[in-house]
Amino acid sequence: MTLIMRTTSVSDAGLVRSNNEDAAYAGVRLAAVADGIGGLPAGEVASEIAIRALAPLDRPPAQRPGVDAATDDAASELAAAVAEANRRIREATGTDPASHGMGTTVTALLLDGDQLVIAHVGDSRCYLLRRGRIYQLTRDDTFVQTLVDQGVLTPDEARRHPQRSLVTRAVQGEDVAPAVGTLPVEPGDRLLLCSDGLSDVVDDATIGQALATWTDRQHCADQLVKLAHQAGAPDNVTAVIADLGNR
Ligand code: MN
Repeated sequence: MTLIMRTTSVSDAGLVRSNNEDAAYAGVRLAAVADGIGGLPAGEVASEIAIRALAPLDRPPAQRPGVDAATDDAASELAAAVAEANRRIREATGTDPASHGMGTTVTALLLDGDQLVIAHVGDSRCYLLRRGRIYQLTRDDTFVQTLVDQGVLTPDEARRHPQRSLVTRAVQGEDVAPAVGTLPVEPGDRLLLCSDGLSDVVDDATIGQALATWTDRQHCADQLVKLAHQAGAPDNVTAVIADLGNR
């Protein structure tokens, strides 16, 4: 069985911020979201660097120079691309004091036959909609997630916590290993990658309902942004939708 992936993305500044520090990629093998950290203009630079480091993965390994298709598996390719993003951010930070501290979240998925490899650092999320049910596949690298794990906060309280955006891990020039997992996928699966500008203000059930209701990808992505707007959209909102199907 050969699965193909069809994707779309939308990225919106939201209703409060004047700039958009999120970046996204929606390709045929690769989908990714990066949410920049570090303020003007460093956050924008960092998320763009990360997406550019990942983008070559959208082409099959055989079409990329320096890649050994026989030995380079998708998981190590993704991890290597995140390491490359880290290296480039470290390099950019070293030459420009104004960009000190800049970094980005990275949540990316790569289609590899009948499975997806998912890499994650930070608090941009990956959700799966399968047969009408929504599953959160990534675990936020945030202070409030730690409090949720310890039973101090409920997930709902975490979404409203003033420090909800405090990430404990980011692609920020220091070596950081992304959490990498593999998900066997099937036709009909729909994946959503999104920045916290969506998941902080729209709850999982509402996101799941939107993903299940709006079959047209682009329309669905636009509706997700609309839901964030209806909740005030205090942060940049980015959504990438990937649908798995048969060729
Ligand atoms: Mn954000």
